[in-house]
This record gives sequence, C-alpha cells and structure tokens, in this order.
Amino acid sequence: MEGRILKISSIFLTMTIIAASVILGHFTNIHIREIKRQQMSYLQMFASYTQQGKEVEEIGFDQQLRLEMPRGVPLKEVKIENDYIKQLITIQIPDAGGDYFDEHPLLGRSNHIADLHMDNGIIEMTMDSVYEVKCTLKKGYLYIDFLKPQEVYDKVIVIDAGHGGRSPGAIKQDIMEKDINLAIVKKLKDLLDKNNRNIGVYYTRTEDVNPTFDQRAQLGGKTEANLFISVHSNSTVDGQMSKYNGTEVMYDELKIEEGFSSKRLAQICLEETTAAFGSKDNGLTYGNSIYVIRNNEVPAALIEVGFMTNWEELNKLTSDKYQKKVAKGIYKAILRALDEGF
Ligand SMILES: [Zn+2]
Repeated sequence: MEGRILKISSIFLTMTIIAASVILGHFTNIHIREIKRQQMSYLQMFASYTQQGKEVEEIGFDQQLRLEMPRGVPLKEVKIENDYIKQLITIQIPDAGGDYFDEHPLLGRSNHIADLHMDNGIIEMTMDSVYEVKCTLKKGYLYIDFLKPQEVYDKVIVIDAGHGGRSPGAIKQDIMEKDINLAIVKKLKDLLDKNNRNIGVYYTRTEDVNPTFDQRAQLGGKTEANLFISVHSNSTVDGQMSKYNGTEVMYDELKIEEGFSSKRLAQICLEETTAAFGSKDNGLTYGNSIYVIRNNEVPAALIEVGFMTNWEELNKLTSDKYQKKVAKGIYKAILRALDEGF
C-alpha cells in the first residue's frame, strides 16, 4: 500500500514538475522577450532585424525601409504626418495593431533616423533634419524613402509668422501682434497653395503656437531653403500711439554676401510690399540684433508690415482686405526673388 502510494505520488510529482516547467518556460520566454524589448531601443531592434533580414534575404535596400503590409490595405489608407518643426514623421498603418510589428518587423536602413517607436500600427520616427517621406507599395510591401526638400521641389522657401502661443508680440487695444502676423501668413499660404510652380513652402507655424527661436532660424538651413521671410508688425520704441507709420524690412547688415544676399532679398520685399498696399517706405533696417535674422543660414528678410502704434495702420492691419493686400505683396516679392535666381 505504501509502495503504491509512493509510486502514485512520484508520478504525480513528475507530472507536476513537467507542467510547472512548461508553464515556467512559457513565462520565461515571454519574460525574456519583454526584457529584450525593454533593453533594446526600437532603433537597436530595427538594426538587429535589418541585420537578420540581410542575412536571410539579402535585401538590397540601403537608405530605404520596408514593411510587409497587412493584406488588402491600399496605399491611400496609409496616413503620413510630417511635423517639420519637431522633425517627427508619423506613419499610421491600418490593421497593423497588436503584435503586428513583432511578427512583421520593419527592415532596411536609414542614416537619418534619430529615434524610432513602433506601436499598435503607428511608426514614429524622429529625424536628424527635415525630410519629405515617399511611400510606395510593391508586391505587398510598403517601401519608405526619405528625401531632402531640394530633391522634391525646384525651389524651397521658409515663411515665419512672428511670435505665437505665449509670445503675443506687441499688444495694442487688446489686439495681439501674433494674430495679425498669422492672419497675413495664412493668406499668403492661400496664394502659395494655388501657385502651380514646384515650390516647397515650409512654415514655422500655421497656428497659434510658439516654436523656439532656434527652431525658426534653423528651418532655413535644414530645408536648404532658397530664402527665408519673417512677417511682423511694428511698434514705436516706447509703445505709445503715434503718427509714425510705414513699412520697413530688416536684414543682417554684418553678413558680407554678394549677389543673392539677404540685403537684396530685403530690398525686393520692401519694393513689392509697399507697392502692393501703398504704405510709406521706411527703407531697409539693420537686423543683426534679431535672433532669427542673425542665426539664419540662408538669405533672410524680416518684414515689419506696419505700425500697431498708429491708429490708422492698426485698423488696416486688422482688416481682412488689407491683410490680403499685404499677403499679395509678399507673394509677389517671393516670385520676383525666385525669378531673379535666389
Ligand atoms: Zn514682432
């Protein structure tokens, strides 16, 4: 009897041990995978998958990424967002939730990705500069390419609406400079959107936000822009309402440039804007003390459209009609500068 009990016990014990190891083993596997995931950044995982991919398939796509697409998802349903200021590219793949990215890793290579996150159908890539994304679908695979703006467009320009968010600029009669500047830039955008030339336009902002001075100033260099124009509204030094009015354009007087210089760009902006909305020509002014002018790597001009400290001009600056004329003037200046060879 005792012998039998012992035998049964030992069978039971063995089975328990087997079951425990299976369960434990399963958990250990999951556990290892979790640890691996936590220890490896997505960028490292991506590199390791890429290596495996190269070994297994000898994939020949350098500087290109490839992802197996969920069956039946057309290219037009892939949603791409590109935040040029944050240099953040987001690609949303339908039907790729859950473990999809674990089972279908992103393969390929790019020297431009500073950080990568992949989760629940969304690929987030922080780039080392400003790039355009080109996605193509071939034989069930999504190919992702990164292109420099100058590879995509004939000309590239940057438009900066001064201030924004918590930086209102001048405030007169509860009217904030940031809002006037943005309203003008939005009207300029309407004109540039309709233009049929192949011009890439990068805006430092198109809403009520406040990119840093660096983000604004560097957008020109990062997009290798042909020119940079900043739009502001002026005030007298003491901020008091006065008779003083008119338009002036700033440039960096300390940069010695020949030909397509900031000074030349500023001159074109001054001529075209004063002609378009008939304001007083106050001439070119020195702008080296202004951060976005001084730290710009490309020809840069800052247009002070008119004075908020002048009653008549303040009224005009807030009117839709006048803002449209201002936008038209800046638009003409851009086209003329590009025609001249900027
Ligand atoms: Zn300003």
